[in-house]
Amino acid sequence: MERLKSHRNDVILIAVLAVLGGALALFLWLTRQTGGIVAVQMDGEIIMELPLDKDARVVLGEGADTNTLVIEGGKARVVEASCPDQVCVRQGGIQYEGESIVCLPHRLIVTIEGGQGNGVDGAAG
Ligand SMILES: [Zn+2]
Repeated sequence: MERLKSHRNDVILIAVLAVLGGALALFLWLTRQTGGIVAVQMDGEIIMELPLDKDARVVLGEGADTNTLVIEGGKARVVEASCPDQVCVRQGGIQYEGESIVCLPHRLIVTIEGGQGNGVDGAAG
């Protein structure tokens, strides 16, 4: 009897954990939707912040080292770059908070940040 009971507790525990895990996954998934700002970092400094919900095309960098960043349909991606590896271009679009595109040769990092309403009076044109 005792053995059976403890087995049943295990089943309940596993069920509870499964529900909690599902709720957590759902929560994370829902909060992922709130990415709102595209932060552009070069040489470790944020040089630009752009709203993700506004289409834009920006050429980053100077001289021969450039990356063309496009924001379109709520996604940001590097469509063109002069770096030798083209990793940043191949990374494709990002849209969720915490996602980033990195261009090592140009020391460029594009990151999606949460856009929950604080006064980011950005350099957006
Ligand atoms: Zn690159």
